[in-house]
Amino acid sequence: MTQHATEQPATFRQPWEAPDDVRITGVRAIVTAPYGPALVVVRVDTSEPGLYGLGCATFTQRWKAVVTYVEEHLARLVIGRYPGDIGDLVRLAKFSSYWREGPVGNNAISGLDEALWDIAGKRAGMPVHELLGGKVRAAADTYVHSAGADIARAVEQAQQKIDAGWRHVRMQVSQPGAGTYGSALLDGDTAAGAPYPRGWQVAEYLRLVPRLFEAAREQLGDEVELLHDVHSRLTPKQAVTLARALEPYRLFFLEDVLPPEHWDALPQVRAASPVPLAVGELTTSVTDAARQILGGGVDLIRSHVSAIGGVTPARKLAAAAELVGVRTAWHAPGDTSPIGVAASVALDVTSPAFGIQECHIFDELTHDIFPGTIAPVNGWLTPNDSPGWGIDLDEDLARRHPPELSTFDAWAAGVRGLDGGLLAP
Ligand code: MG
Repeated sequence: MTQHATEQPATFRQPWEAPDDVRITGVRAIVTAPYGPALVVVRVDTSEPGLYGLGCATFTQRWKAVVTYVEEHLARLVIGRYPGDIGDLVRLAKFSSYWREGPVGNNAISGLDEALWDIAGKRAGMPVHELLGGKVRAAADTYVHSAGADIARAVEQAQQKIDAGWRHVRMQVSQPGAGTYGSALLDGDTAAGAPYPRGWQVAEYLRLVPRLFEAAREQLGDEVELLHDVHSRLTPKQAVTLARALEPYRLFFLEDVLPPEHWDALPQVRAASPVPLAVGELTTSVTDAARQILGGGVDLIRSHVSAIGGVTPARKLAAAAELVGVRTAWHAPGDTSPIGVAASVALDVTSPAFGIQECHIFDELTHDIFPGTIAPVNGWLTPNDSPGWGIDLDEDLARRHPPELSTFDAWAAGVRGLDGGLLAP
């Protein structure tokens, strides 16, 4: 445990009288990788024996930097403080670095924030969703991923998910020779003779995806909700072309049509798109996400709760979304720890703006490392009713599955065009 015995600067000390003498005594990061991606969890200990909180700080691609941030920078800010001052502590964490936070800092702060909410719930004897105002729905409906090397296999896998109880399925299909986001890289050349023969081709992609959903509607019927993630690879005009081509197949949402650098064009794209647009996982700025919600560029906001600073800012985004008719679809794929999923679900069941929740199916080992992990039942995620998140961490077991610096470090830079140029993920 990182301890800081040195005298704290005056600005870090408890700024007002706390209602009791419980204080933060330690902040550290635990990293585990039971199924590949490094999951980063922040544990905040207190002066009350047995009282601690857990938060998700998972930034799989740069996890070592987050660990350093938590243990070398965050811990000294908050040790000695009253853990119930969540709003002040996360503002202190954010503003103390002066430079507004990027993904490393925001993931670290999210871990702190969620751990403090966990502690608050444990002290109150209530689940976090009750602290957030209580349920407005029983559970969160979810969507699950499916993908195939070709259209037939993509549809087959979607059918398996439907058979397992899901009502919402995200479908991805590989481009011959190249793969695409979420779907396997295929053997064989896309275009022999090209400088980069296995390159991704936008024209082929724009032809392939409508064919995928035509086949999906024919074979899966009209009842299921279908989703697709472009992963930021189109220009504004290409995005409109794709959205219009997909209109007959009634998508639940079309995700990340543009890279964040081109988000200024989203209101025009959305106005021309007959398909709801979901955007937001790639910004770690709460104000950027708020501008998306209020600026008319999105139908569903997809911020990653553990990348924008945790529950405290995310509930503000949910409130803004509620007021203007945007819905939430918090990003929570496999590089989210079960704590991060619980945080998303707590927001889902307490926000009238809820649209859908992304769902990763954790393996048995992860359930053992994180006792209390929420598992989907017929596609529904229901929050725990026990205090805090209702999820613990078996640190001995977690340590037996350490992360490696791996392909996850570079996975987002895996697609090139036929000319060899790297494409934005
Ligand atoms: Mg996505």
